[in-house]
Amino acid sequence: MTGAAGLKRAVCERCLRAQSACICRWITPIQAQAHLLILQHPLEVGNAKNSARLLHLCVNGSVMETGEAFDAVVLDSLLHADGRTPVLLYPATPDDAGLPAPPPMPMLPVDALRLVLLDATWRKSRKMLYLNPALQRLPRLALTDVAPSNYRIRKAHAPHQLSSLEAAAQALGQLEGAPGRFGPLLDAFDGFVAQQAAYVRACAARSGADNASQSDEQGVNRLMGR
Ligand SMILES: [Zn+2]
Repeated sequence: MTGAAGLKRAVCERCLRAQSACICRWITPIQAQAHLLILQHPLEVGNAKNSARLLHLCVNGSVMETGEAFDAVVLDSLLHADGRTPVLLYPATPDDAGLPAPPPMPMLPVDALRLVLLDATWRKSRKMLYLNPALQRLPRLALTDVAPSNYRIRKAHAPHQLSSLEAAAQALGQLEGAPGRFGPLLDAFDGFVAQQAAYVRACAARSGADNASQSDEQGVNRLMGR
């Protein structure tokens, strides 16, 4: 009999996925002038479609922490490490009476800034904002439209429907005034998405084969009078 340890799939220590689904070949190291802090909602950790870890592995020096309601002291040190000024990548919420109006964007050079990204569904990112007053007090960076000729973000998507990686690539480019500079991140993302799609197809084909062999087995059992 196989022990519990034997049943565990081998996991890649870098991307934390099963070795068979490792995404490390898509890691494209890139240097951003703003520091990147990714706050990941716990529900995203095991989500195969989640692009935040790839983003984290690509952007040099980025920091990724998981949580929903963060300890205030810990969050404060994450936000203000190295004396940088944090700005939250989040759209304006003028109709939300529960949230204070954020301060204006600081007039600082981009290398004095920290881009804070909430990696969560739209609904959960709002909850993270509600649960962490320090995030509510941050200036907000909203994504602006970028010329399609030098950017490849899918036009049909509203900013909050972008993946975390796409949103960060656009935001980092926006902060640097160089929208195309983070194109390599999007290339990495395309490879990642294609791999996910192939993986899902392979799993579907495998489960189809399993179902077929199961019905074969049932057929045999019937023939044998079981
Ligand atoms: Zn890996």
